[in-house]
Amino acid sequence: MSATAGIASLPHPNRDAAIAAIGPQKSVTILGATGSIGLNTLDLVSRHTDRFRIDALTANTNVAELAALARRHGARLAVIADPALYGDLRDALAGSGIDAAAGPEALVEAASGPSDFVMAGIVGAAGLAPTLAAIRRGADVGLANKECLVCAGDIVMRDVRRFGGTLLPVDSEHNAIFQVFDRDRAQAVRRIVLTASGGPFLDLGMEQMAHVTPSEAVAHPNWSMGAKISVDSATMMNKGLEMIEAWHLFPVADHQIDVLVHPQSVIHSMVEYVDGSTLAQLGSPDMRTPIASCLAWPERITAPSPRLDLATLGQLTFQAPDPVRFPALRLARAAMEAGKGAPTVLNAANEVTVAAFLAGRIGFLRIAEIVEAALEMIDSGAPDTIEAVMALDAETRVRTVALLG
Ligand code: NAD
Ligand code: MG
Repeated sequence: MSATAGIASLPHPNRDAAIAAIGPQKSVTILGATGSIGLNTLDLVSRHTDRFRIDALTANTNVAELAALARRHGARLAVIADPALYGDLRDALAGSGIDAAAGPEALVEAASGPSDFVMAGIVGAAGLAPTLAAIRRGADVGLANKECLVCAGDIVMRDVRRFGGTLLPVDSEHNAIFQVFDRDRAQAVRRIVLTASGGPFLDLGMEQMAHVTPSEAVAHPNWSMGAKISVDSATMMNKGLEMIEAWHLFPVADHQIDVLVHPQSVIHSMVEYVDGSTLAQLGSPDMRTPIASCLAWPERITAPSPRLDLATLGQLTFQAPDPVRFPALRLARAAMEAGKGAPTVLNAANEVTVAAFLAGRIGFLRIAEIVEAALEMIDSGAPDTIEAVMALDAETRVRTVALLG
């Protein structure tokens, strides 16, 4: 994967089509409606009911919250991923006129439905199939689910091009780059710089990190997010996954992607051009800003994120990432450079180890150690279909569980 991805990897922003399509109201489907990304998206939709209405909402297991959200936002369809919960969802929606469905196929159907915009807000590789379904019908897709691109980026980007959809990066760093990357002059980009908060353990030594608890790991200093991405931020695997995500989204070579620790999370990322100009996007750390930019793209809508007050903030600080205390960054870069199935293995092994850490089964430092062991052990080949990706993902999960001890 070490070559430049090339212009073909651009997210194909169909700007003219998007402008032409701006009708009175865009219909929006949210995959992962009960999560942090889902709820922030719903918050924006409810502030702009003249522009957006909800089509389908999905969740993993929380029937009561899904039903309440579907009722509150007048959804057409609500889907629960766990098939055993179908009856509960149907009962919870009784008399509402909202259709209920359950199971993985129903998630794909929700994404395949008629909405103009799909927010891919499921966490993990579990979001791949429905996200691809939305891409394959050429929908506008707001992509928060970075694991999709890490585990199957070549296929996802190929299908974005093939089906003519528009992929809008929701992840704050990629949204920042999307806003300042001159797509007509990609050759003039020298490098992109992903900023990283450094997470809650930025200043801890290894000895202290060995004993941190799950609740300490999910207490992110700047962002309020789901548990998995919060642990990823603490190990800095999140930034590693984001390097691979950026490699797929933007036409740069892997050695042109750098990481800079910036604890305040105000500069969300930067693009440096050959003439020395560096363009950045700034904002308070509130996901409603990048989500609003995707929902309304290429227009802009108001978002309630706190306004940036640089005078009060006083100073912004920066430092290089520490590869010794944060080995996940090194592992992700190696997987990006190795290409083929290595990023799929990295992602699946990370999902398993993070879940084990959250369940109290392994210590914090074991996360990266076990991911490294999985990467060394599994000969990944080059999965070139979704079935091959999912098979490698499943094999990696089984073998990583065995490594947990
Ligand atoms: P979250 O845990 O808060 O929410 C996840 C959502 O996905 C929930 O609605 C849950 O019901 C659903 N879900 C979980 N497992 C599922 C499964 N197996 N099948 C179907 N649905 C399932 O997570 P989040 O923080 O909202 O993150 C969602 C995605 O967005 C992740 O990929 C994350 O990396 C990315 N992201 C999040 C943020 C953020 O601020 N939260 C920022 C950038 C990127
Ligand atoms: Mg991010």
